Amino acid sequence: MAAPLRPTRDPGAVGSGRGWLLWESWGVSDWVVDLDGVMWRGGQDIPGSPSAVSELLDRGEHVVFCTNNSTVPGHRREAELRSAGVTPGFGVITSADAAATLVERDQRVLLLGSAQLGDQLRAAGAVVTPVTELADQLGASGGWDDPTEVLGATSGFAAVVLGLARGVRYEHLDLVCSAIHQGARFLATNTDATFPASGRLQPGTGAIVAAVEAATSTPPTVAGKPNAPMAEAIRRAMVGDARASAGVGAPGFTPEHGTAGASAGGGLCGVVVGDRVDTDGRLAHELGFEFALVLSGVTGEVPSAADVPVHAVATDLASLVAGDLLGGSLRALGPGTPGAPGAV
Ligand SMILES: [Mg+2]
Repeated sequence: MAAPLRPTRDPGAVGSGRGWLLWESWGVSDWVVDLDGVMWRGGQDIPGSPSAVSELLDRGEHVVFCTNNSTVPGHRREAELRSAGVTPGFGVITSADAAATLVERDQRVLLLGSAQLGDQLRAAGAVVTPVTELADQLGASGGWDDPTEVLGATSGFAAVVLGLARGVRYEHLDLVCSAIHQGARFLATNTDATFPASGRLQPGTGAIVAAVEAATSTPPTVAGKPNAPMAEAIRRAMVGDARASAGVGAPGFTPEHGTAGASAGGGLCGVVVGDRVDTDGRLAHELGFEFALVLSGVTGEVPSAADVPVHAVATDLASLVAGDLLGGSLRALGPGTPGAPGAV
């Protein structure tokens, strides 16, 4: 088990509730909290979640929020949390933030995604061309019927970056595929097949990625949950704060607390809270963290099987923090214990 970031916890600051005893016994001090399905759903705050986060922060726990939504910048998400009465802790990390770590300064990038994602890539130094602009230029010039013009327009890109694109058209898919066929790297913010909105599930970025992958026979490099770029962004956010608050040589500080990758959790010891096993559960696995599944989002009931460990299941974040787990703690059962009662 990785050393917690706060190796010397002040007993006087420890609450007496059942939940705190549980999390203390797990050695958890770092919380990665999903937004959609944990803090809110369909634009409505999930009751109890804001106060649960406040309780964690009051106890001195580290909290960072992460989301695969690439269409809204982290600072706006942080403002939304504040308006819900939540201090955003280490802040909000989006899949656009993670994608921006995959491009390099002065690289030409063809974007099929939101304006926000384009801004993030430009902030990282990339030279971004929205595919909508390229399509409009070809439409205006009548170049669609000239293969030389289409191939020329889509040549020389170092990367194609795909995010959620609500206005996606066949022509946009055609152009990004052409760029990939000519050697551009295929990057995607995430591969979530759906996302909850307006009381239903809508097609997610993964649906667009699947179309491009099918047409190019090229698998994407994926930035968001549950992949390594998002995990690294989380480690940097949490370990960076530990450096700043503890400082080298401070009591209880040892080098591994400030060295990402020093252990499976990068010197961190925590839990990922989310509503999807396939993204949040796998992110926990990538970080070397525990995974707590909440049933307040897209997963409505305890799954009968999962291919990554699920260490706890609760109705929602408030129940989880309070230690009210469905079926009790599954952590002792180990990952995927066949036939274990309640194992998922
Ligand atoms: Mg979610």
